[in-house]
Amino acid sequence: MPPINPNLSAAIGDDTIVALSTARGRSAIGIIRLSGPQAVSITNSLVPKQRFQPRTAILGNLIHDQHETLDQVLVTLFAGPASYTGEDVVEISCHGSLPVLHYTIERALELGARLAEPGEFTRRAYLNGRMDLVQAEAVKDLIDSTTLYQAHIAARQTSGALSAELRHVKQKLVELISMLEAGIDFAEDDIAVASGPEILEKLESVRERVTRLAKGFEIGKIVRDGFKLAILGRPNVGKSSLFNCLLESNRAIVHEVAGTTRDVISESASFEGIPVELIDTAGIRTTPDSVESEGVQRSWQSLAGADCALVVVDLSQQATNEDHALWEQAKKSSSPLLVGNKQDLDESYQGNIPTIKVSAKTGFGIENLRNKIREYALSGLDTMQEGSFVTNIRQERLLRESLLALDKATEATNQQVPHEMLLLDLYEALQPLDAITGSTTMDDILEQIFTTFCIGK
Ligand code: GDP
Repeated sequence: MPPINPNLSAAIGDDTIVALSTARGRSAIGIIRLSGPQAVSITNSLVPKQRFQPRTAILGNLIHDQHETLDQVLVTLFAGPASYTGEDVVEISCHGSLPVLHYTIERALELGARLAEPGEFTRRAYLNGRMDLVQAEAVKDLIDSTTLYQAHIAARQTSGALSAELRHVKQKLVELISMLEAGIDFAEDDIAVASGPEILEKLESVRERVTRLAKGFEIGKIVRDGFKLAILGRPNVGKSSLFNCLLESNRAIVHEVAGTTRDVISESASFEGIPVELIDTAGIRTTPDSVESEGVQRSWQSLAGADCALVVVDLSQQATNEDHALWEQAKKSSSPLLVGNKQDLDESYQGNIPTIKVSAKTGFGIENLRNKIREYALSGLDTMQEGSFVTNIRQERLLRESLLALDKATEATNQQVPHEMLLLDLYEALQPLDAITGSTTMDDILEQIFTTFCIGK
């Protein structure tokens, strides 16, 4: 377990917090959670005549007005420090009646608890060294996940996969810092001073890992926020039909008269766990109709905001100049996928070769197209270490800060500046890495100096 952050541990109160941990509303059960030194004594008053054993669910009666049973509840005690928050935690599973839940919380407040603030249980877990900041943020990601894949990534991070990778990177940097510190502080004790190429090699190894983590944010962002896919094409090539097919619903209006989809419609779907926002656009063509021309305008705008464009052509017709112009335009802002639709009809298409042929009418090729989109969204993921990519902007900014300082350190080494100066850049690179997990590393550096270098003093 990471040590308690000494700067923050003072912020832990000796008070006991209480909150409804399940969603508010009518439900089969509702769980009330208490954490803190009075968690057990408050529970003893709420559910008397029971001896609560750690990690054992005990059935008891929730008492109202001193003696009357209000509900039969299941109480589980997690004794600190081996609990989620590191303190005594009690979970009371009541039936999900709002008045019962409300009464229980009110009574706990009368007995000395206070209402927990948002995220306070996890905050206490962090302050008590039960998890680091990356893990705490991943708890929120897990709760907020809308696809199984997101949940999977968040679960890996709560279990410490990203934290372990960060620790590894930090360790490399700490080794380099310790080597230089020892060279300065114990120069007369025969500690070899590190050579420029040796420092550069170590720096490069750290830089390479931090860069990889920072780059992973692009993928993390897709896993977390989703992937925007704009469907573009001339009127009547089958964009709306394809949109519906990909969504497996009938969200957009399909019509035989060209120019039906006059506005931009968007809908979210999960492609094997990757959230994809599909944007169906107005058919792109030159039109005298002002409403439709506004729609065409918006289509170009959605192309600019999309992560990928599906340019749809009609395989039953010759490619037109508009098809060609659209493809060229799409290539300027993203790497589009060219989709040939109406594969079920006789093919008379001649033009840019489609990446994939489909029929929105029969469903031919749709699964393949979904896979292609998912592959596209995750391209690069295979080169990443499993679970070691950052999914939030705070973490990414700190990685970028660290990279800037590492760049300065590389420059300083090339310029052969004194090691005292170089160390300033290295500490500047280390500090944001510490801030990601919320740990401090000064002790690690001292430890490293006195163990690795066997100074013997
Ligand atoms: P959009 O204007 O590009 O959005 O095109 P729509 O989706 O509204 O489709 C225009 C017409 O083409 C409609 O009559 C659809 O039924 C028809 N259509 C769409 N996809 C296919 C397909 O794969 N095969 C065939 N045969 N007709 C299709």
